[in-house]
Amino acid sequence: MRFIANCIHFDDGVATVTAFVGNLPHFSKDEIQTFTSLANMVGQFSIYSASTPAEKTIASKLGNDFLVALLARLSQNGFTISDDECQPLGFGLFSNAAMVNHSCAPNMVASFHLTPHHPPSLRMRTVTAVPAGDELTISYIDVGATTAARQEELAKSYCFTCNCNRCGDFERDIWVQGTMCRAVNCKGVADAQGKCTGCGGAAFHATISPPLVIDTIQEVASSRLVKHFQASYKLSHTRLTAGNELVMRYIDGQDWNRAAVTLKDTLDAAEFCLFPNSPVIAVAFYKLTKLLEYLEIELERAAGLRQRAAQILLVCYGKDNALYKEVSERW
Ligand SMILES: [Zn+2]
Ligand SMILES: [Zn+2]
Repeated sequence: MRFIANCIHFDDGVATVTAFVGNLPHFSKDEIQTFTSLANMVGQFSIYSASTPAEKTIASKLGNDFLVALLARLSQNGFTISDDECQPLGFGLFSNAAMVNHSCAPNMVASFHLTPHHPPSLRMRTVTAVPAGDELTISYIDVGATTAARQEELAKSYCFTCNCNRCGDFERDIWVQGTMCRAVNCKGVADAQGKCTGCGGAAFHATISPPLVIDTIQEVASSRLVKHFQASYKLSHTRLTAGNELVMRYIDGQDWNRAAVTLKDTLDAAEFCLFPNSPVIAVAFYKLTKLLEYLEIELERAAGLRQRAAQILLVCYGKDNALYKEVSERW
């Protein structure tokens, strides 16, 4: 809200934002409804927060249609600013970076350099060897999900159909989806035709919907979220998302043992579902390193994970990065 009000109040703010593509005609009715409600609030907030009569005059002249179009442009071109551990901090518009296209298997990662009293700066680094002539890409969404889920999100939020290599890899989707077979001792999952990859059968476990609210750590241990996690295929996106959610709850409840055990069981899924050198994988490695070191168990494994986290962070963020320095200083 404050960001949009700033766009409006600065002389060249509106001109900068209106230079971007908004794709408004391609959004669904529901999305436009969301923009309209938000535009109402933004309109009022920009008048209320205007500090000079000139700003008030500009703000009061902004119609709802203009604000809806502005919000669409921001949603298409803005970046979620996050810290080195990939936790969201805010929102920003970076004109040049907004032109970089999406891939579900990107060859670059964006990161943000944050210094007090200065606007954040955005950096992009390649995370894989890029052959000459290849397009440089970043990912706009969580790329760990299945092709169908990614395509749905990209169409809904960014109004395009992705044609990247990963989007044509339906073999991989079988494992990312990971719907497990019900036959005793069979470790297969449902293939694209609905047959088990192990025994050829057609009976699969139903998906369990995890509960939305868990208040206490006792509830976590016996919750449907745990069942959801345990019933998920080891490389699946469900294993990754349910696992991350559980680890967060266990850490909140200071149940370090369960947090470490659960995190260990999500690492294979993270490496399979994400992309090589994703900073999210490095953060998971480092989190497990700290848990194992705190518990004083599996210290050799902890050292190995620390080293792997540092190697990824060096690629993503470079040697001057604070998190890279913190992770690498002990090996
Ligand atoms: Zn794609
Ligand atoms: Zn089977």
